[in-house]
Amino acid sequence: MNTSFANKIEKIITEIPKIELHLHLEGAIPLETLFNLIQRNGKESSIKTLDDLRKKLTYTNFAHFIKVWRWMNAFIKEERDFEEIAYQVLGNLHKQNVRYVEAFYAPGDYRGQGLSVPGITECLIKGKERANRDFGIQSELIVDLIRDHGPEIGRQHLEELMPYLGKGIIGIGLGGSEQSFPADPYAFIYQEAKKRGFRLTAHAGEAAGADSIWAAIEKLGVERIGHGVRANEDPQLVSLLKERQIPLELCVISNVRTRVCAGLESHPIKQYFQQGLMVTVNSDDPTMFNTSINQEYLALAQKLGFTVSDLKSLSMNGIRASFMSDRNKELMKSQFEKEWEQLLNNHY
Ligand SMILES: [Zn+2]
Repeated sequence: MNTSFANKIEKIITEIPKIELHLHLEGAIPLETLFNLIQRNGKESSIKTLDDLRKKLTYTNFAHFIKVWRWMNAFIKEERDFEEIAYQVLGNLHKQNVRYVEAFYAPGDYRGQGLSVPGITECLIKGKERANRDFGIQSELIVDLIRDHGPEIGRQHLEELMPYLGKGIIGIGLGGSEQSFPADPYAFIYQEAKKRGFRLTAHAGEAAGADSIWAAIEKLGVERIGHGVRANEDPQLVSLLKERQIPLELCVISNVRTRVCAGLESHPIKQYFQQGLMVTVNSDDPTMFNTSINQEYLALAQKLGFTVSDLKSLSMNGIRASFMSDRNKELMKSQFEKEWEQLLNNHY
């Protein structure tokens, strides 16, 4: 790639209107804010500088990443911290021209710190409403039931979160240690959640293989797959994903950082895109993976040969794959089309 094109594509990517469907709020806390939380709330002698923190956020494998995730969350000690977290994360996304976000949070991770699920949720809603007023960015929350906590905690979350459904919360997800905790025991919770009007997604095919994706589709009845990067282990599964256009919330740099993929070049996103799967681009835990939504788009253009027109398809896929109402999808689609026209006029 020559320098002038490299500069141009960077500029184009900052201007692309974007959607983010797979982002964990806790994993997106800006690095300096996270550093301050650690200084304020912990006696962590090993983290004295931002550089120490950057080094801490590198992983030997997926299980190691989960271990660091738990370590990090222990520094969030107060419910009111979540208002600022939501506000700052959304502010950061707004700077990257993200218009709509469906963000995960995992309230069950803070039970040990004595924080309540409704308390955390209300603070996040305040933060996201403030971000909407200040930046115009729209967002919805997806509660991550975290496999490691067990189905009973998940069931309690559903009860506690009913008052917020449609008022800030849109759905449920299932993150955590996929390699150790299969989806099956969560089937009844997903059925119940669907009945109540929660939208459904689950992490699958990241730390475990194609079987885990099958379970998410067949046992949980998910509408989208979180990651799904390992779908290509089973050609029949790839056909099904294509036929039903089940969206994949792909997070390329995350998969490289947790060593699910050996490197960017071996990531199957291009192959899935060319095969006609419903692919979306997301940043997962941008602070923890030293990435950003702009960096994700840039990696696709610079390392994997995605053209500007491919990037447009990906940005539009974000709208189609979202849990927005059909009316809001239409509105956002025509807005994005207008901006794309302008963007292409400016650069070509
Ligand atoms: Zn994730």
